[in-house]
Amino acid sequence: MNNSTVKTPIPEQEPLVRNKNFEEVALGYTEEQALLEADRCIGCKNPLCISGCPVEVRIPEFISKIKEHDYEGAYTVINSTNSLPAVCGRVCPQETQCEQKCIRGVKGDPVGIGRLERFAADWHSAHQSSDHKPAEIKKNGHRVAVVGSGPAGLTCAGDLARAGCKVTVFEALHVAGGVLMYGIPEFRLPKAVVQKEVNGLRDLGVEFSCDSVIGKTFTVDELFADGYEAVFIGSGAGLPSFMNIEGESLQGVYSANEYLTRINLMKAYKDEYDTPRPAGGTVAVVGGGNVAMDAARCAMRVGADKVYIIYRRSMEELPARKEEVHHAVEEQIEFRLLNNPVKIYGDEKGRVNKIECIRMELGEPDDSGRRRPVPVEGSNFFLDVDTVIMALGTSPNPLIKNTTSGLDTNRKGCIIADDDGRTSREGVFAGGDVVTGAATVILAMGAGKKSAAAILKYLGVD
Ligand code: FAD
Ligand code: SF4
Repeated sequence: MNNSTVKTPIPEQEPLVRNKNFEEVALGYTEEQALLEADRCIGCKNPLCISGCPVEVRIPEFISKIKEHDYEGAYTVINSTNSLPAVCGRVCPQETQCEQKCIRGVKGDPVGIGRLERFAADWHSAHQSSDHKPAEIKKNGHRVAVVGSGPAGLTCAGDLARAGCKVTVFEALHVAGGVLMYGIPEFRLPKAVVQKEVNGLRDLGVEFSCDSVIGKTFTVDELFADGYEAVFIGSGAGLPSFMNIEGESLQGVYSANEYLTRINLMKAYKDEYDTPRPAGGTVAVVGGGNVAMDAARCAMRVGADKVYIIYRRSMEELPARKEEVHHAVEEQIEFRLLNNPVKIYGDEKGRVNKIECIRMELGEPDDSGRRRPVPVEGSNFFLDVDTVIMALGTSPNPLIKNTTSGLDTNRKGCIIADDDGRTSREGVFAGGDVVTGAATVILAMGAGKKSAAAILKYLGVD
């Protein structure tokens, strides 16, 4: 057994090299490193790590396959409960899930479960024969529509197709993958990894109808009229929030969603694409979550001279993953903590040129349990900026709610669904961010899986 109390380090690009390119930051374990890290797992009789995983991957079993050099076997174990291992191995917040529960974490670092998951998935991908096709599936004659192609929709569509349903995924954008394609940057999750998963579903017979906005191109009622017997809504939470301060409509002020979509989906960083490259100069990103870190790190890569993260609480309350914050600091993102914007200023052409902020201090804990930020009177100051990116959270777009009668939503605009995804409307199921509000990839996948099972039950498929 490897008694080291520290995780086997994962090779990474150098910070000052990677902050100028979109190649992956973490390069993945070599076989030797994976074997070394797998050897840190003691194969607990009562493995707490499994209970920390929302889809209950049989962690010690897959790690023991790695120890036996059976990497394809390790992939098969993971894939039996997790349909997107290469994605989850890269972006799941393992530190608050499986790794938080790992017994090795009591005296040192937990086992690098996410890194090992990625290793097994990448091994499978590199060694899979290119003409591999899934076994013929017996059709059951049922048709199901899936709205949205993020992790919730993809997982639901995959499970339904494997059970023999004819599934069409309707996606508003021109490419399938949801946030995995338009939000999470290439340097954290290569788009080829996502498209491989989408193509795997195509091989299962799933059809993708891109550029189809449900609520505009077709309504949910029209899908039923067209012969679909059930509809799964996995349309995510893509509506950005703003601060409602003066100056937010100036040129050069973006929502993080728009900014990231321009860069990740519309490839603004590639010369061969027509998408205009966002301005360089000084960029201020407002917010402290993962989305803010992604926007800031993208801004640096497309040529900003200076990038600020403006966040109204302190480093301790920062909601982003520690690893993302660490990477951002290494890449020379400047954190302006306990600062809050109050107004954005522009030049005579209506382009942003300055942001006014106020300093904050932390008061008593609020409803979220975190100390409430309180403005320090008279502490206003200015920062010269060329771009402002608002990364303040998102909620579901109201289009589907407004065009589907009998579909109940809560006061935040999220569709109300039970644990199995059943909504107030007969035959309509929902899951992922559209139900929970902005959450995680693995939770969206879990919801898609549960809904698929409930849809099969609803259709009377054994
Ligand atoms: P989405 O992934 O949002 O997919 C919904 C899809 O539905 C979209 O493609 C959208 O275009 C489509 N759609 C919307 N409306 C319609 C309509 N009317 N008709 C047809 N299609 C429609 N989670 C992690 O676990 N780890 C991370 O590191 C991480 N980083 C993130 C970084 C960013 C920048 C963002 C924005 C989110 C991040 N998340 C992360 C959160 C995670 O990506 C989401 O929780 C997850 O993608 C939600 O999945 P979903 O399938 O519910 O929705
Ligand atoms: Fe291995 Fe940690 Fe899980 Fe125990 S808790 S089986 S050491 S990964």
